[in-house]
Amino acid sequence: MTDTPPECTHWIGAERRYCRALERLRPYLPGLRCPAHTPAALQGRPEPVPGPGWPATAWTTPSPQSASALFDQRAIASGKRRAAAHTYRTARDAVRATPTRTDTQ
Ligand SMILES: [Zn+2]
Repeated sequence: MTDTPPECTHWIGAERRYCRALERLRPYLPGLRCPAHTPAALQGRPEPVPGPGWPATAWTTPSPQSASALFDQRAIASGKRRAAAHTYRTARDAVRATPTRTDTQ
């Protein structure tokens, strides 16, 4: 195996050679790049700045399973879905306990 130092892997087409800069390299999806040949620099755009990441509430949305369970309760409570009498009463009470903007009562 050849042991070459890390270098910029950008192909400079006009000069028909690789950049091969050795300093201030950073890894990008296309490979190691020097500051002059980052994907953003090649597109003439400013480098993206590190941000705070995803908002803290990103994972607090109800899961589809719990949402479908609520829809199921509403269907049972409305009588559109067949259920035992005690299941119907329980669902009706649960739906009444969780009013939404669509409720007109
Ligand atoms: Zn370069």
